Amino acid sequence: MPGFELFGEEEKKEVQDVLDNGVLMRYGFDAMRNGHHKALELEKNLAQRMETQYAQVVSSGTAALTVALACAGVGSGDEVIMPTFTFVASFEAILSVGAIPVLCDIDDTLTLHPEAVEKAITSKTKAVMPVHMCGSMADLKALKTICGKHNLILLEDACQAIGGTYEGKPLGSYGDLGCFSFDYVKTVTCGEGGGIITNSEKIAERAHKYQDHGHDHMGNDRGAETHPFLGYNFRLSELNAAVGIAQLRKLDHTLAIQKKNYTILRDALSAIPEVTFRRVPENGVESYAFLNIFLPNENLARNAHKALGNHNVDACFYWFDNNWHYYKKWEHLLEQKSIHPLSEEIQTRLKKNNKSFAASDAWMGRTVSCLIKLNWTEEEVHQRGSKMVQAIQSIL
Ligand SMILES: *Cc1c(COP(=O)(O)O)cnc(C)c1O
Repeated sequence: MPGFELFGEEEKKEVQDVLDNGVLMRYGFDAMRNGHHKALELEKNLAQRMETQYAQVVSSGTAALTVALACAGVGSGDEVIMPTFTFVASFEAILSVGAIPVLCDIDDTLTLHPEAVEKAITSKTKAVMPVHMCGSMADLKALKTICGKHNLILLEDACQAIGGTYEGKPLGSYGDLGCFSFDYVKTVTCGEGGGIITNSEKIAERAHKYQDHGHDHMGNDRGAETHPFLGYNFRLSELNAAVGIAQLRKLDHTLAIQKKNYTILRDALSAIPEVTFRRVPENGVESYAFLNIFLPNENLARNAHKALGNHNVDACFYWFDNNWHYYKKWEHLLEQKSIHPLSEEIQTRLKKNNKSFAASDAWMGRTVSCLIKLNWTEEEVHQRGSKMVQAIQSIL
């Protein structure tokens, strides 16, 4: 998955364009920039690659989620349904617009279980946020149907699955909005950065303003621009955008490497009858950023993860015990450890998340995910496959 593995001359050349003219900011200074508009170019390329009408780049994936929620009109008191297995950015973004994260069970797709989503809907629900964790997607068709029925916004977090598709559409483009992260460990990296894609002109118009203090971006005197509404600063710098341009161009090459390496490892593990694989919804194609497997039970999964480490197979994750990605370890959210006061309403309604999610536990307890790297030689991948088989067989 990490795009930084393919960092090279192409990225340096794009960055050099920016260094040569010294304009590190995306707006203004037109006379100095020699025609280079890196953030704008990245947006055009992203929209084209993701087959959407619009793209907005911002300073991080977390910022992308925040801007997406704000521009979709999600705010104070609204509930956003999100999975128990995701990165902490999901609830950070929801809380930052004054909305309430509502945790919801996952299924064997490792993201939102449509039936659980339907049960979690209340009169306050405004959006559903599936997170396409570890290279594969939610059952988007079922979620879209639910969102249509209840008039909810479908916001796809595709930060870990860029390049995957569903019903032939790039992940992120199926819902009302899609978000990507371009942080340092993602498939496409800018160092730090993020992107939002949408086909809604209304949302796109709001997004470019919102991420730049509400500036209307009319005319060519930034100081004279008006502010039709409140905003923030989530701008991406030209330097970061330049890296992203070169990285995005490599995406299809990156995906081909991921698929090749993934397939070798999956074929090797298929020899073990006790190992099964994460379900990919019908008509979905993974990005192959991770290979996700199920062991028959929690004990065996934990032991398999340990054995993989002992056999020097790096970059395998047992999320069930992980600090970042599973609700059980989100103590700061569940105990409301906020350095600034939270409203009473948020305090009360957040408490509804303090319960157990047995269906999620049943799947996550059995899951081990292995990152697919890009710089492995074919021989290394085959050796890795053999080591993984040995390691897992040693604990069965
Ligand atoms: C990385 C990530 C984010 C946040 O991205 P940053 O750019 O690090 O802020 C959000 N969601 C998921 C699923 C991620 O993996």
